[in-house]
Amino acid sequence: ATRIGVLALQGAVSEHVHALENSGSQVSLVKNIGDLEGLDGLVLPGGESTMMRRMMDRYGLFEAVKQFAAEKPVFGTCAGLILMAKQIEGRKGPHLSLLDIDVKRNAFGRQVESFEADLAIKGISDHYTGVFIRAPYIKSAAANVDVLATYEGHIVACRQERFLCCAFHPELTSDPAMHRYFVQMVNESR
Ligand code: GLN
Repeated sequence: ATRIGVLALQGAVSEHVHALENSGSQVSLVKNIGDLEGLDGLVLPGGESTMMRRMMDRYGLFEAVKQFAAEKPVFGTCAGLILMAKQIEGRKGPHLSLLDIDVKRNAFGRQVESFEADLAIKGISDHYTGVFIRAPYIKSAAANVDVLATYEGHIVACRQERFLCCAFHPELTSDPAMHRYFVQMVNESR
């Protein structure tokens, strides 16, 4: 069976584990470099991207995840999306620099810290409830990036080859469509 890891240093971990298991994958937690061994794909969860980066550095996972991503599929949600972006507004350098996107953190403003929105996600779902929590959005994406969903004119989900990301929290809805899609991506890449 497909084995997918969830980076488990900080943030929304257990809900991702359940959603991936319900989508037919074996799932394990990634807390150390050795935990990446034998995995076919990796999820970078929501949380706080600066803190998550600090923890990745501390456990040697930053370089290890970058190497993993050189070959295998990665799905970043919310803070995980920020970790994958090549450009982050107001920040000198990127983190993992995997996706040709330019992101803005906490982009929906303070007065709406969290909200739900009905989204159409290309190739995935016509009606998907996106749960946004201090969410980023994607200001721009390169031509080789497939935009999967927008909300109020801003890109909130996309795919570039083996990399998938969304600004919302798919693990906080009961709809398995996003996780199923990623499991399928991983299956196809094996
Ligand atoms: N605002 C967070 C960040 O910048 C992301 C929010 C989330 O993951 N829910 O990392």
